[in-house]
Amino acid sequence: MVRYVYDFAEGGRDMADLLGGKGANLAEMTRLGLPVPPGFTVTTEACRAFLATGAEPEGMTAEISRHLTAVERAAGRSLGQRDDPLLLSVRSGARFSMPGMMETVLDIGLNDESVQGLAKTSGNERFAWDSYRRLVQMFGSTVMGVDTALFEGTITLLKEAREVQDDVQLDAGDLAWLVETYKSLIRDETGQDFPQSPAEQLRLAVLAVFRSWNGERARLYRKREHIPEDLGTAVTVQRMVFGNLGADSGSGVAFTRDPATGRPGLYGDYLSNAQGEDVVAGIRNTVPLTDLERLDPESYRRLCDHMGTLERHYRDLCDIEFTIERGTLWMLQTRVGKRTAEAAFAIAAELAEEGLITPDEALARVSGDGLARLMFPRFDTAATGDALAHGIPASPGAAVGAAVFDSAEAVRRAAAGEKVVLVRQETTPDDLPGMLAAQAVLTSRGGKTSHAAVVARGMGKVCVCGAEELTVNTDARRFTTRAGTVVEEGTVVSVDGSAGAVYLGGVPLVASAFMRYLETGEQADGIVAAGARALRHADAVRRLEVRANADTPEDAARARRFGAQGIGLCRTEHMFLGERRKLVEEMILARTDAQRARALGALLPLQRRDFVGILEAMDGLPVTIRLLDPPLHEFLPDRTELAVRVATADARGEPPTAHDTELLAAVDRMHEENPMLGLRGVRLGLVVPGLVAMQVRAIAEAVVQRVRAGGAPHAEIMVPLVGAVEELRLAREEVEQVLARIGEETGVPVRCPVGTMIELPRAALTAGRIAEEAEFFSFGTNDLTQTAWGFSRDDVEAEFFAAYLDKGVFTASPFETIDRDGVGRLVRIAVDEGRAARPGLTIGVCGEHGGDPESVHFFHAAGLDYVSCSPFRVPVARLEAGRATL
Ligand code: PEP
Ligand code: MG
Repeated sequence: MVRYVYDFAEGGRDMADLLGGKGANLAEMTRLGLPVPPGFTVTTEACRAFLATGAEPEGMTAEISRHLTAVERAAGRSLGQRDDPLLLSVRSGARFSMPGMMETVLDIGLNDESVQGLAKTSGNERFAWDSYRRLVQMFGSTVMGVDTALFEGTITLLKEAREVQDDVQLDAGDLAWLVETYKSLIRDETGQDFPQSPAEQLRLAVLAVFRSWNGERARLYRKREHIPEDLGTAVTVQRMVFGNLGADSGSGVAFTRDPATGRPGLYGDYLSNAQGEDVVAGIRNTVPLTDLERLDPESYRRLCDHMGTLERHYRDLCDIEFTIERGTLWMLQTRVGKRTAEAAFAIAAELAEEGLITPDEALARVSGDGLARLMFPRFDTAATGDALAHGIPASPGAAVGAAVFDSAEAVRRAAAGEKVVLVRQETTPDDLPGMLAAQAVLTSRGGKTSHAAVVARGMGKVCVCGAEELTVNTDARRFTTRAGTVVEEGTVVSVDGSAGAVYLGGVPLVASAFMRYLETGEQADGIVAAGARALRHADAVRRLEVRANADTPEDAARARRFGAQGIGLCRTEHMFLGERRKLVEEMILARTDAQRARALGALLPLQRRDFVGILEAMDGLPVTIRLLDPPLHEFLPDRTELAVRVATADARGEPPTAHDTELLAAVDRMHEENPMLGLRGVRLGLVVPGLVAMQVRAIAEAVVQRVRAGGAPHAEIMVPLVGAVEELRLAREEVEQVLARIGEETGVPVRCPVGTMIELPRAALTAGRIAEEAEFFSFGTNDLTQTAWGFSRDDVEAEFFAAYLDKGVFTASPFETIDRDGVGRLVRIAVDEGRAARPGLTIGVCGEHGGDPESVHFFHAAGLDYVSCSPFRVPVARLEAGRATL
């Protein structure tokens, strides 16, 4: 019999798949003996069953009743009890934190009778009616589907009639009137009554939370965070405790360290006489947690103790939510807290330093994406001028964009290619699309734990919150600074999420301290030292080597500074561009062998010079040079442009130049409907006489030159787009002949391994044969993905890709993250069969996936020898190659 409900005392942190993060951690805190209001968790399995069938899983309701009885027994009162009701909170809690994206219903158990009981036992009639009002509103919108705006509108009208600003100024009579009005609103809108039965309220609330897994916000958030669609959410049901019972009550959110920088020390926001929701919503301004020491020293001391216990137990930064009910502290939630990339590195380094975690654990807690963030440029502080305003540095980084004042406008402008900064008083989960579309988020209210801060930090988005000097006027689409500067929508502003400052206009960027360290080895402390430490450990444990894709001496040199152990792909076509295009044109247009030889002869010294520079920059390390790959017509002018030029000359009565006419004819002759599947790669080398010979000569002569200069060149020659071993055999024969000839001519023997790219399914499937002719393999996963899926790599921005992501055909573009099941299978086949045919065959990858964190883990597992990626990704790949071994 499947079990759907677990008491807090029965779970633990390792049960997050089943109990969700919140349920698992509440259970863990219960087991640690911390003061957690009693409750139970309905499993993700129940949610999945409900979402699959639309019906309550059999036995779930009975199980909930049994567990409820236990909670009632512990509390000494029962749900909805007239004179002294037990009230419950019903909250979502998925395996991965999705802050504010799903539903919550509080104060379950109140009805027309028990509200009287609550008024009596709390001695606070206003509080009781306010709780009932909140329940009817939350239940009405979340469970019964009534538009929240209708409730909000009603309360606004009432406040206007009473001539008050704030909800707290409404009295018990007002709130009782609101309850009645809300109830009739629900009846009018849905044709149903707000249920008076507490058991029914509970049952429906649980199902509504299940349903909210598929809400629009939740789906969008999952897509962005790559959270699988099929996990479902757990539901925690817990005895309500109240932070809004007066001045001796309150709610707060706290971190055991600063989540923006990682600095140790209690950190958080507190709101007296308020429920937790009010803190996170950023609606009222919170006070720093340290003020609690003055307000309630005993609770503060306990809180510090508990947080110390949690950080030691989890051996990591924890965040918590707590409530103080009439001087009694209750822990409502904890989890290993989200943090910025900077904080992740700082905390990992510090805990490893303290010996609380091992270097391996420290490495596991940072990521390549995080390292990439440390490499992002910063604002040039020398060029900033005066700030418009300061706020809380909630999520670091530098962002420039046009100020916009609502989510829809942010989405609209971003879709048109504009960079925007979303400016709000505070954000709510409804602002998610705008936050995603914006470069940065700026709010005038809310602390470091407000919705804007938490969500932005989780997404790695720049955020400054609580910039109280700003008056944000959303309706007028402008904000005003304290000094009186008015910033209208569309004005460019710069947001410094590291310093918590906002500037007018676009501030110039400079390299980050970590980038300077990578470039120069210049040591520094703090984040730089923490990043360097993680990289050092990754280098010590990784098996995969990391090479770079580079085709200029400058890129090669930079890649080497960034730790590249060679070049895995030098695309020689990049050396055919610019002024050299003319020579390539001549080669293509050549009508005789002599003409072609002349053109190739002119290209030769240029190629040689490039190779000498690259081999010098990578002296002593392997440099894999790929023979020309793209179709030749890519080097000719655009057909339309050319045709227009010829036609206008004609119209003017001037005959087009012979060169233009010839070019046009060549473009027409070479036109291919599917150039990606056409005359390119090894095919080109086999049909254009002299091309391979020229390139190999340039390589070999460069090697000789470097040897003579006392260097240690290690050029490798790579043949692209091979599909059959015969192609490679023919190409290789020519390569070997040229190498031998240069050896004889110069008296310097030139030995370059000859290998091939594996970038066609046929190559992967016949890798055993191909390995007979190849001294190494390098997976071209860009073309391999294109040809395995039949997706054009040049058109991946096409709309259907977005639709595929939306529909969950894949969770990430297969051009970014390797498709393990399909393309990955081809990789594994080629590795196995290639090595079976030629033991010890060196195998790497040089497609874009070589720098993608998740793909690096796959290549490690598949047994490759190296990954090769763009120079800027080299540190990321080093780190992830280390993490892949853990
Ligand atoms: C590849 O196809 O993965 C590759 C590295 O080659 P290119 O991107 O140059 O086609
Ligand atoms: Mg390719």
